[in-house]
Amino acid sequence: MRIGIDVGGTNLKAGLTDGDGRLLAVERRPLDFRGAEAFAADLADMAEAVRTAAGVSRETLRSVGIGLPGAVSGGEILYTTNIPMEHVPLAELLRRRLGVPVLLGNDADCAAAGEYLRGAGRGCRDFAVVTLGTGVGAGIILDGRLRGGAASSEAGHMVTHAGGEPCPCGSRGCWEQYASAPALIRQTRAAMAAHPESLLHPLAAERGSLDGQTPFLAAQAGDETALAVCRAYVEELAAGIAGIVNLLRPEAVAVGGGVAGAPEELLLEPLRERVGAMSYARHGGRATRILRAELGNDAGVIGAALLGRVI
Ligand SMILES: [Zn+2]
Repeated sequence: MRIGIDVGGTNLKAGLTDGDGRLLAVERRPLDFRGAEAFAADLADMAEAVRTAAGVSRETLRSVGIGLPGAVSGGEILYTTNIPMEHVPLAELLRRRLGVPVLLGNDADCAAAGEYLRGAGRGCRDFAVVTLGTGVGAGIILDGRLRGGAASSEAGHMVTHAGGEPCPCGSRGCWEQYASAPALIRQTRAAMAAHPESLLHPLAAERGSLDGQTPFLAAQAGDETALAVCRAYVEELAAGIAGIVNLLRPEAVAVGGGVAGAPEELLLEPLRERVGAMSYARHGGRATRILRAELGNDAGVIGAALLGRVI
C-alpha cells in the first residue's frame, strides 16, 4: 500500500493506492499553511486519515509520495509556487512522523508518473504529459524513468516567441504565455473586442464567465470568431509540443488539464495534424502519438503514490 498527496495552491488531496496504483481511498482538505513544521504535521495527519479510512494497517504502508507545485531535489523542497517554502527538508520531517520512506516530486512529474503507469502512457518507455492549466506543465519519462528532481522539465518556459510576451519567470516569449488557460482566455477576450457580433458575447454572459471552454463551445456552434481563436490556440500549443517531440521523440505525448477537455475535433485532431506538420518524424522514424490524458484530477495523487517506481 502506498499513499500519494497532491498539494495544490489551495487544497490537499490524499489517496491510498495498492502497489499498482488503484485508488482505494481519497481524502480532501483545504490547505491552511502555517509554516513548514505545521505543514509537515498536516500532511502526516492526512496520510493517517486516508490510511484509517481505507482500513489498512500501518505495517502494510510501503511509502508516501508528495506532489508539490514547485521545485524539489532529493527530499528537499527548493521552493514552492504560491506557498512560502524554501529549502525545506520535507521528506525527513515527514519520515520522522510516519516511519516510512517519503518521496517528493513536482506536480507535473507526478502527473506524468500517474499517466505513465496507470493512464494514457501505459506500455510506453518514452512518454510526456503536458498539463494545460494556470500555467503549462510538462513531466517527462525517458526509458521508464522520470526526468525529475532538480532536473525537472520546465517545458512551459521554452521560448516559442523570441522577444514575445514577458513571463513572470523573467524571460520573454515563454510557451506558457501563449498556451496556458489564462492565455487562451486573453486571446478570446481580444477576439471578442474585435468582433462584437460573435456568439462568444452571449455565450460568456449566459455562462456567467469566460473560461477555457467558452471558445470551444462557441466554435462548436459554428461561430467563426471562436473557430479562429481555437485554430490560433492549437497552433501555439502545437509549437511547444512539436518542440518536445523533435527533442525527445517519445512514443506518446498526453495532453491534460482543464483545456484538454475540449471536443476532440477542435483540439486533439487539429493538434495532431499541426504537430505532425512541425515534426521531423514526417521524414520517417518513430512517430509520436498525441493523446488525451486519462486520469483527470487523480493523476497527481496516483503518480505521487507511485513515484518510487519511476525515480
Ligand atoms: Zn517563463
